[in-house]
Amino acid sequence: MLANDSVIVINAGSSSIKFSMYSGPALDLTMRGKIENLYSGVAHFIAQDAGDSVVGERHWRDGPLDHEGGMRFLIDFAQTHLDGHRVVAVGHRIVHGGVKHSRPQLLNAAVLDELEKLIPLAPLHLPHNLAPVRSVLAMAPHVPQIGCFDTAFHVGQPAEAQEFALPSHITDLGVRRYGFHGLSYEYIASVLPQAEPGLAHARVVAAHLGNGASMCAMDAGRSMASTMGFTAVDGLPMGTRCGALDPGVVLYLMQELDMDVAAVQKLMYQQSGLLGVSGISSDMRTLEQSDDPRARTAIDLMVYRIGRELGSLAAALGGLDALVFSGGIGENSVALRAAVCQDAAWLGVQLDADANAANPRGIARISKADSKVAVWVVPANEELMIARHALEVVEAA
Ligand code: ADP
Repeated sequence: MLANDSVIVINAGSSSIKFSMYSGPALDLTMRGKIENLYSGVAHFIAQDAGDSVVGERHWRDGPLDHEGGMRFLIDFAQTHLDGHRVVAVGHRIVHGGVKHSRPQLLNAAVLDELEKLIPLAPLHLPHNLAPVRSVLAMAPHVPQIGCFDTAFHVGQPAEAQEFALPSHITDLGVRRYGFHGLSYEYIASVLPQAEPGLAHARVVAAHLGNGASMCAMDAGRSMASTMGFTAVDGLPMGTRCGALDPGVVLYLMQELDMDVAAVQKLMYQQSGLLGVSGISSDMRTLEQSDDPRARTAIDLMVYRIGRELGSLAAALGGLDALVFSGGIGENSVALRAAVCQDAAWLGVQLDADANAANPRGIARISKADSKVAVWVVPANEELMIARHALEVVEAA
């Protein structure tokens, strides 16, 4: 990797494409940006350099933009703004790799065909992750593309953490717990020992709390259990997703309320969680600023469920040495961290109230010096993890 070599990371969701460019041997972030509002309203593109100066912006006012149009624009933009940089790899965040895709890998047409077979396992996310890969393959076929899977970090979990208590012929179809947010947890596992060397071999529970939210139990940096399961709707209540639900509720909704599959899916993925309980917003900032008691109820429910899952994950690890907060809520909500840590006092968690209130901007310890369990804030950085993987794969090829 030369000084002017760059890795581009693409993180494509249902209505947005985010990208980051990392350059030189240290993989310094040199540019990042996104196109939002795909398929509806006015699509908007913005790109910023490392100093946050805007280096490109555009609106599409003449009709909706799709993934392919967005990627065509981004590839053109990259080619005109590369400034002598050579793109050595494009890394993609891919939500599901199934059982087989347990490490980052080079993507070609054959691998893409295989990954498309996994779409039924993640119908809301996987098609959007794969669309940009096809676009780059068609428009810049010589550029190596690497797929990084959100499930891969969890592949080595003990069998009992992965299996549902279902008959084996169902399990054999791939109906099992996969876990997600793996790239975020892998990043946390990679930086935590640098921050506190004693944690390299520790039992750590990390909470990635963003619009999607999950928790992961890690032993010496390896995933042992996670709150998300077969899909990314399990576990914690999230912005709009309900999290763990008695499966009997789904039967009730269908049998007694005559809801069809599409209506149940919409309820569970888009109308529940913080939004559903509060009736106000899926956004934690809005809820924290609201005087409405329903906003309080939604936050309290999230805190309660994080506490329950923390106990469960600590049990899976046989104890707890560190708790890590990450994601938009984990990194920014002083009040939520304080509430979670107060509930976790029984595990030996003692928060340093001043360090927590200082709301650190980077990787920081926020527990008291003599807390049995260290508490850390680690800003999420899945993109850097993808860039590192992409570079490793092209250098090994
Ligand atoms: P995504 O999962 O889409 O990447 P983020 O990790 O950006 O989402 O997290 C979004 C969540 O973080 C929202 O609920 C938002 O309100 C919350 N958040 C961001 N900043 C703050 C803040 N200062 N205080 C409380 N919550 C915040």
